[in-house]
Amino acid sequence: MPAHVPADLPVPDLNQNAKVVLAKRYLRKGPDGKPVEDEQALFWRVAHAVAAEETRHPGSPWQPDELARTFYDLMISFKFLPNSPTLMNAGTELGQLAACFVIPVGDSMDEIFDAVKHAALIHKSGGGTGFSFSRLRPVNSRVGSTGGVASGPVSFMRIFNTATEQVKQGGTRRGANMGILRVDHPDILEFIRCKEREGELNNFNISVALTEPFMQAVEQGEDYDLVAPHSRESKGRLNAREVFQLLVQKAWESGDPGIIFLDRINRDNPTPALGEIESTNPCGEQPLLPYEACNLGSLNLALLKSGDGVDWEELKRVTHLAVRFLDNVIDASVYPLDRITEMVRSNRKIGLGVMGFADLLFQLGIPYDSREGLKLAEKIMDFIQTESKAASKQLAQERGPFPNFEASVYASRQQGPFRNATTTTIAPTGTLSILAGCSSGVEPLFALSFARHVMDGEKLVESNPHFEAAVKAAQCHSPRLMEEVAAKGSIAHIDYIPEDLRRVFVTAMDITPESHLKMQAAFQKFTDNAVSKTVNLPNEATQDDIWKIYWMAYELGCKGVTVYRDGCKTAQVLCTGDGA
Ligand code: ADP
Repeated sequence: MPAHVPADLPVPDLNQNAKVVLAKRYLRKGPDGKPVEDEQALFWRVAHAVAAEETRHPGSPWQPDELARTFYDLMISFKFLPNSPTLMNAGTELGQLAACFVIPVGDSMDEIFDAVKHAALIHKSGGGTGFSFSRLRPVNSRVGSTGGVASGPVSFMRIFNTATEQVKQGGTRRGANMGILRVDHPDILEFIRCKEREGELNNFNISVALTEPFMQAVEQGEDYDLVAPHSRESKGRLNAREVFQLLVQKAWESGDPGIIFLDRINRDNPTPALGEIESTNPCGEQPLLPYEACNLGSLNLALLKSGDGVDWEELKRVTHLAVRFLDNVIDASVYPLDRITEMVRSNRKIGLGVMGFADLLFQLGIPYDSREGLKLAEKIMDFIQTESKAASKQLAQERGPFPNFEASVYASRQQGPFRNATTTTIAPTGTLSILAGCSSGVEPLFALSFARHVMDGEKLVESNPHFEAAVKAAQCHSPRLMEEVAAKGSIAHIDYIPEDLRRVFVTAMDITPESHLKMQAAFQKFTDNAVSKTVNLPNEATQDDIWKIYWMAYELGCKGVTVYRDGCKTAQVLCTGDGA
């Protein structure tokens, strides 16, 4: 039953782009395909369903009705939004609210096709799936039961890809997968090349899982062993530098594959007693154990400016509310498998992050690629990390710690107890940032004015409001200028704009790859899970530049890195000017 909308509820004030996106995919539809709720009803449905979980906990200081109104106000202020599946499915029959899942793929037909089925069910509900294919025996290995030969990880990935393609026809949004292979798997070279043809494995992002011994072998210029996972037999050796170079070359050509530092991810695994982390979700920001899922949420920093700094009081208030919200989502969600329900409810991971960071910097007059910008990033994320842990501790007092707490690293370090095994993740906020009308995640703006393709080729035109306000204040606003900016995206080379504005209003392409990466590292320092970030490179960047970025990511303590060289693929998600 849809929640009854109270008559005195404020109406959300949505921008045009948000209205289009909500109408297309988020509003509940009747059998005739027409919406059966409006935007107010949508946010109330979510607030009401999530706040209703409070009744499970007698120790709660909140009345569910009062909390529902508080959650509603929080969302329609756009200071916080939960990930898309929560907006789509909370309070509905489907009821699956998490964005991120990792499903294990075992080395048998049964296990492989179970994983295909589980992924299909998750995609149907709007969630994304990550898989490690590292346990599959390499191509041409013998299959004991048939006497035939195995087809190997890459060929099975094609089956997952095709299944995703079919499910997306009827689902809430196109499915997204992450495919991971360890660098010491015998099929690694085929995997690194598996997306070289345009359109191949189009529903997958792929990443190579690099290990510490491999990185050391690169450093020393040594060979390393390839190991068949099913027999633990050595299947030959490769030169680590040559493999690293191939990775770099493919990333230079197409952006794929990315890399993740597997041992580092496992060093931060809060529950190593439960097993190893082998994969992340599709966009890489959420490492998870097999059968684990995580729900994310993002705070909008663009709305948290006060004077010439951050409104810390308000940031603290919204962080605490957001943690309560996300912890409730865990129980409000219906998962497609009992194994997932069990895992999720025993670790209770949540991923609170931020969006609108570039907008905040614009308002404060701080360049993204400056020491001050990095310092602010660290200060904000340190604060959110500390407050989210305090909130999780408070919830542990009210509701008990996460069931695996005693087996976690927190217990052995005598921290907590906490309600959640992790609290922070920086998501891409691809759709959330459109709804909130802010810059996405911790990314710089792609362009000060641009056309955005969203969902099925629809085009939305946007201009950054802080930029418009600043050029007006500097009295250099003119139709000619805005046309020029829309065509170029950046103002770096528009010399009649004052120098100080050009310094502050930098876009992704104006920023050096090193500065992109330093920002990723600054946020990572205070984030439990990982940071979604693209390191943009100009078209003329060399393979050497990518090698340096990969190495720097390793040295700066990042958990992975994704690079994108401008113009290296024909279909970009975001385009400037006429190319849109
Ligand atoms: P949103 O803004 O829609 O909440 P994000 O862009 O922040 O989503 O992505 C967060 C995570 O949500 C991704 O890493 C992935 O796990 C999942 N996700 C995003 N887009 C899709 C999609 N089209 N299909 C399935 N899962 C998705």
